[in-house]
Amino acid sequence: MKSYEMLLESNRAWAEKQNAEDPSFFEKMAKGQSPEFLWIGCSDSRAPADKLTGTDPGQIFVHRNVANLVVHTDFNLLSVLQYAVQVLKVKHIMVVGHTGCGGVRAAMGNKSFGLIDSWIKGIKDVYVQNEKELMAIENEDERADKLAEFNVIQQVNNLKNTTIVQNAWKEGEYPYLHGWILELKSGHIKQIVELDKSSMDDSVDVFKYSI
Ligand code: ZN
Repeated sequence: MKSYEMLLESNRAWAEKQNAEDPSFFEKMAKGQSPEFLWIGCSDSRAPADKLTGTDPGQIFVHRNVANLVVHTDFNLLSVLQYAVQVLKVKHIMVVGHTGCGGVRAAMGNKSFGLIDSWIKGIKDVYVQNEKELMAIENEDERADKLAEFNVIQQVNNLKNTTIVQNAWKEGEYPYLHGWILELKSGHIKQIVELDKSSMDDSVDVFKYSI
């Protein structure tokens, strides 16, 4: 059997199991979605949102890209964010980085990888902003993992600086913004930052939109 055929076979087995456990599962799923969470994670195959959190289809709206970046000119990310916040009205948005991230590691080095150099350039800026603390860490893997944390904090701040999130905060308390790190060695996720609308009070003026 070819490797991709295994996927289709596993899919059939999964659907049958799901149906056996709850015969109305797919009927409900086909009717629509109302997920409470938006997950912005890394494309890394080891960081699947639902597996890691034990959630079912329908529970998490997902956007993934290399190194879980929130780039203000990325229409893909912005479209997902706008739909999640304005239409699905998600209550929580989590930016999820992880240890051993290849994108973060590449941003720490000097090697050129082509097109992706431009994509991960923002992480180099995060490195420069936190250079003193990062340079104090001798072990390169540990330094990369610390940079992954700083990167997640920056991306959460980027979320905060969108009109999409600020508009929602003018109307209510949601969404809450979370920065998480998945530790690959244990499979555990830890939260490193959480922001709500009150965080606008100490936001730099230039990022505050009058809407
Ligand atoms: Zn990664």
